[in-house]
Amino acid sequence: MVGQAMEKRLNKLGIETIKDLIFYYPLRYDDRTSLSVISDIGADQFFNILARVERISTKKTFKQRKIITEAWVYDQSGSIKVIWFNQPWVSQSLRPGDQVYLTGKAYGNMFEVYLSSPEYEKASDQAINSGRIVPVYPLTRGLSQKQLRFFISKALAGLKKVADPLPAKVVKTNNLVTLNVAISNIHFPQDYKLLVKSKQRLGFDEILLLQLKLGQLAEKMVDSKALAVNFKEKEIRDFVDSLAFTLTADQKRAAWQIIKDLQKDRPMNRLLVGDVGSGKTVVAAMALYSCVLAGYQGLLMAPTSILASQHYRVLLDIFKNKDIKIGLITSGSREVNGQLMSKKDFYSQLSEHKIDIAVGTQALIQDKVDLAVVGLAVVDEQHRFGVAQRQLIKEKSKVVPHFLSLSATPIPRSLALAIYGDLEVSLIKELPQGRKPIVTKLVANQDRFKAYEFIRQEIKSGRQAFVVCPLIDFSDKLGVKSVKAEYDNLNNSVFKEFKIGLLHGRLLLTERDQAIEDFKANKTKILVSTSVVEVGIDVPNASIMIIEDADRFGLAQLHQFRGRVGRSGYQSYCFLFSQTENQKTIDRLDYLVRCQDGFVLAQKDLEQRGSGSLYGYDQSGFVSQFKLADLNDLNLINQAKQTAKTLQILNYFDVNNFFDFYGNFSDISIHQE
Ligand code: ADP
Ligand code: MG
Repeated sequence: MVGQAMEKRLNKLGIETIKDLIFYYPLRYDDRTSLSVISDIGADQFFNILARVERISTKKTFKQRKIITEAWVYDQSGSIKVIWFNQPWVSQSLRPGDQVYLTGKAYGNMFEVYLSSPEYEKASDQAINSGRIVPVYPLTRGLSQKQLRFFISKALAGLKKVADPLPAKVVKTNNLVTLNVAISNIHFPQDYKLLVKSKQRLGFDEILLLQLKLGQLAEKMVDSKALAVNFKEKEIRDFVDSLAFTLTADQKRAAWQIIKDLQKDRPMNRLLVGDVGSGKTVVAAMALYSCVLAGYQGLLMAPTSILASQHYRVLLDIFKNKDIKIGLITSGSREVNGQLMSKKDFYSQLSEHKIDIAVGTQALIQDKVDLAVVGLAVVDEQHRFGVAQRQLIKEKSKVVPHFLSLSATPIPRSLALAIYGDLEVSLIKELPQGRKPIVTKLVANQDRFKAYEFIRQEIKSGRQAFVVCPLIDFSDKLGVKSVKAEYDNLNNSVFKEFKIGLLHGRLLLTERDQAIEDFKANKTKILVSTSVVEVGIDVPNASIMIIEDADRFGLAQLHQFRGRVGRSGYQSYCFLFSQTENQKTIDRLDYLVRCQDGFVLAQKDLEQRGSGSLYGYDQSGFVSQFKLADLNDLNLINQAKQTAKTLQILNYFDVNNFFDFYGNFSDISIHQE
């Protein structure tokens, strides 16, 4: 279908097959249904017209070596000049007498108005670029809207009428349009009503598909029993008394819900959600302790080795007076209660149950690790972790563990419903006492140096600061701050007197660990970082969070950054910088200034930017499979869930058919035959 060069460009967008093309959805739509007439066009106006070409020619300017194509077009109201720069092919495709749609902006002065390099398309019934609602796709360099529209329209045309995988009855009862209608109208909508219906149908299928998958997996798990973990009341009370602080009411309630679940032999599947700093770790530690007391092994998994070793140290401290063996395994290190050891020794200690609680990254369940009898697996900030991984633990440990997932990402109810099957949720809403709200400011650019002065004083009085930038490398094109440039700038001029650290995802793991260690040890005063600081890093002495180009991040993610400070008694500050002049964006950032509630912020994100913005869940592969499903639409989600259930129970349609259907949808390469 396309040549090699074009294939590469399409690949960049993740398009490899005809199916990918068909499911590459528009970002938005341009309404080009209404046309203006030539006599109405004034300078600096946007226009859509349908006109006839009177004459057209191309010439080369001598000095600037520009190729200029000049045409005159007319309609019943008048005529106008059109100029294209460096597009010699225009005069080959447009001939005098052709009817043509032109779309773009008019330029001119008091003497003359002309059209400059408008989009053009010869008029026909099948016009895909003009005279209709036109799709606008995300692009890549060397690929134009027009080209992509053309490829997609070709893919759609080549697609024989597809048989709808949903039974007609389901389509009808849920008031959906057929798949054929949905697919063609999502790209080239006949009207807005059909566009909305098409989004609904395809969104419905997305949710249904996931629900069916979850249902199938759940079926596999349903017969498996977990180990009932007895509640040892006295020991747990002693544990709570031994803590350096009193648990909040929310922590107690969550812990109690978990302990009750653990007592059952049905595997627990619980999500513990609490804002950053709300104290989820200690609740998880209590659950793990309960599991250890019952004679089973506990696992605690974190997304990065930095976080894993942080958790390990916290647990060592919490259990320092107890006879509990705690192990740490990351790609770089293995140790048990402070003692380094070889991989081999660690593995044998693990499988022989000489380790009570094993903390680690994914390394813990990958490789050729054997586990002892695992009672409980806790997973921190890793939303991808799910049924498949539990299956893996089951294979290694011969039992289905109870499962507790920790998350600082407040999950809106509709989303939880959409992406999880039978998940229970515990909430920690209140923060421990004595936390001061973090003073958040959107700093105007002219006040940047005032802010720097303030930060200088804070650092001089002993505190530390984070600086977060969106990018790693310099990038002229976007004009967005990069850690490397910002590091140089702060290090060489603004904060010359302080030691500054640099952290980003392309450093070696050891370099990353070092950067964090140095910051934790207060050897560096400022840590310039990309978004890798967002999850869990705990440096209580840091009291300042600076976020550059803050508008590049979602609210929930910004809130996560902010949560890196305010983790001690010091008054903490979050300074947002942004180049934006867009009032909407400024209002969005202002929302963060006024609101400290992660739940509210996440809900706002979901409403404003759609599900793709949901920090934490977007990298998880959960949300990315929802391209069209509106996760604010509880009704749609419930309908899809209900349908999944009915289909499974009635078994009156082969669930696998549905997967196959979406799986094999024209799985033909876009490569030229
Ligand atoms: P998160 O929920 O973000 O993972 P942590 O578990 O890391 O939060 O807790 C943040 C900090 O609050 C830790 O230093 C922890 O020791 C402390 N903490 C936890 N619970 C309480 C409490 N009830 N009172 C005071 N401090 C607490
Ligand atoms: Mg945490």
